[in-house]
Amino acid sequence: MNTPAEPPSHLLSIAVSTPAHSALGDLLSYASAAPLPPGTLVRVPLGSREVLGVVWDAPPDGGAPLPEGVAPRAIAGVLEGLAPLDAPWRRLVQFAARYYQRSVGEVALAALPPQLRELGPEQLARRLRRAPAPSSPATAAPEVVPSPEQAHAMAAIEAGPGPFLLFGSTGSGKTEVYLHCIARALAADPAAQALVLVPEINLTPQLEARVRARFAPLYGEAAVVSLHSGMTGPQRLRSWLAAHAGQARIVLGTRMAVFASLPGLALIVVDEEHDPSYKQQEGARYHARDLALWRGHDQGARVILGSATPSLESWHASSPATPGDARSGRYQRLSMPSRIGAGELPQVRIVDMGQQPRGSAFSPPLLAAITERVQRGEQCLVLLNRRGFAPVLHCHACGWKSDCPHCSAHQVFHKSDRTLRCHHCGATSRVPRACPSCGNLDITPIGRGTEQLEEQLGSLLRNVVVGPQGRAARVARIDADTTRAKGALEEQLAHVHAGEVDVLVGTQMVAKGHDFRRITLVAAVQPDGALFSSDFRAPERLFALLLQAAGRAGRDAHYVAAQGSPPEMWIQTWHPDHPVYAALRRHDWPSFADQQLAERAGAGMPPFAWQALVRADASTQEAAQGFLTAACEAARAAGLPGGEQVHLYPPVPLAVQRVANVERAQMLLESGSRTALQRFLAAWQPLLHAERARHRGLRRWLIDVDPQAI
Ligand code: ADP
Ligand code: ZN
Ligand code: ZN
Repeated sequence: MNTPAEPPSHLLSIAVSTPAHSALGDLLSYASAAPLPPGTLVRVPLGSREVLGVVWDAPPDGGAPLPEGVAPRAIAGVLEGLAPLDAPWRRLVQFAARYYQRSVGEVALAALPPQLRELGPEQLARRLRRAPAPSSPATAAPEVVPSPEQAHAMAAIEAGPGPFLLFGSTGSGKTEVYLHCIARALAADPAAQALVLVPEINLTPQLEARVRARFAPLYGEAAVVSLHSGMTGPQRLRSWLAAHAGQARIVLGTRMAVFASLPGLALIVVDEEHDPSYKQQEGARYHARDLALWRGHDQGARVILGSATPSLESWHASSPATPGDARSGRYQRLSMPSRIGAGELPQVRIVDMGQQPRGSAFSPPLLAAITERVQRGEQCLVLLNRRGFAPVLHCHACGWKSDCPHCSAHQVFHKSDRTLRCHHCGATSRVPRACPSCGNLDITPIGRGTEQLEEQLGSLLRNVVVGPQGRAARVARIDADTTRAKGALEEQLAHVHAGEVDVLVGTQMVAKGHDFRRITLVAAVQPDGALFSSDFRAPERLFALLLQAAGRAGRDAHYVAAQGSPPEMWIQTWHPDHPVYAALRRHDWPSFADQQLAERAGAGMPPFAWQALVRADASTQEAAQGFLTAACEAARAAGLPGGEQVHLYPPVPLAVQRVANVERAQMLLESGSRTALQRFLAAWQPLLHAERARHRGLRRWLIDVDPQAI
């Protein structure tokens, strides 16, 4: 054994990514010859590997003592040329780890670009040298003259500390408000940075183009960067470095960007703040909007949440303060009901399917409306949230169904390549020629997917002639199946924008955000499913999705006026009087949200209560539930802190109980006190670890705090 001449003398706490729930704990001790400030990125030995780590603030008690006779291992090296991650960033990571019940190291390392882990010192130095220098300012794209509603919102955001809920219809000019506030923040301080979060990768290029047009002339091309999982490793690293070094003044990204290192953070915008995709569903299950609010508060940055259909959490927080309800009245709500540039919001037409001939995806009145629009050369958008041709194949002779062999779900029939595909585990097989069970040749698809709608519309509109040119009507489809290849979505959207498509069939992928100029009719052909979901958020989600979809119609007021055809949103339903549709018809989010909130208050559900899920995956359902039951009993026996205020529901199987041969169960925890729930979970973790060892069939367990799907 080699003994160094001068042994390293500084003991450091280092955050490294140990496996989730590892017994190693949060931070590991290493020795270093030189003192290193917290936030320094280092490489350290871990087992037989060398991994990336972050020097962490020494715990108040000096950390866990090393066992007698064990010398700390020495760090392997420092990532030269990188400023340490600052204290606000470390506080954010620390908070997220504690709140979502994960280790600091796991959250810290997941928040860094993956390439940082892989690059050698020389490669990194080269990357740092290549980071672009800011170019000289030129003239900015002219700002629009704000409408009175916009001007009011801008002034309020200027004046108050926030957080702000910008409640504006689609096309009300929310983005212009964001851009104005960003401009003010950046102009006020040469080091200021703004973070703009959007829910989906698909929506970043459009917004980026707008942000770039406004700010690149002022601050240079390098001042605007994106951060999302669709980027390559080197692209992500470049953006991350630019943000970390302060060269990037505006960072645009999906939920992961909430963890970007932004030393000058002055403003955070969370666009479409209600969108479920802000919740991470793997690893640390954080909610980017909630972390953005925490980060803004902690770092003194203004936070603007924007939506046409705010989450009930944000809606409640921005409702007038009521005595005895500390959660109301915390945000400032700014309303922008009018649409700018676009015309009126589309009229909502409800088709009562009970009054229509059976068996057709398109009711006669809807088909007539689509035909008429197409003949005039206008575009229609038909939505169905289910891809494939049919959700299941069925044999009427013996009752066989195309069940997935590995999941408690059907395999979906995809006609174009004659396959049966499981949308949960991916298992794919050829469509059988005859019933595998009885040999019957007549097996039939049940139900409809987008592929079938596309085919049916194609034949229904076969003889329809478009516009004065007199060409045949064209139907196209955009969903996850048509857009697998890189660049496919952009290409297909370009066809729509170029007017080469008359009717676009798609899933919710095309319902959000896209700026279609010539669509005047949007139809949801089968939206009822969500009305009867067991998830209490389903009505809220459905309303938000349908209103978003409606927002794709009539976006160009000039076009609508020239055509003389007011935009319409069609809903085919078996429940025409359902409150969701009644409110949608009036475009009335406020009364719908207030009614939903009253129901939730009565039932003691979020946002009037706090929830967490504990999930268990095992080889059998008994093993999964057995673990949860035992963990629950252990908690009772230990009398955990906060326990008297936390209600534990019995374990239940997940809606899709088995996926890829793994049985899944979950247990819901609910409390009127967020603090009590947090204390309980923290104290429960060690018991869950201990319990795990006693359950052989258990694959894994996890905690989901503030779950977004129950
Ligand atoms: P939102 O983000 O609420 O959907 P946008 O900011 O995208 O709305 O605005 C919708 C359209 O109206 C855009 O084409 C935008 O350029 C235009 N617009 C927004 N504000 C104004 C304004 N004050 N004057 C003229 N056009 C505006
Ligand atoms: Zn059969
Ligand atoms: Zn499957």
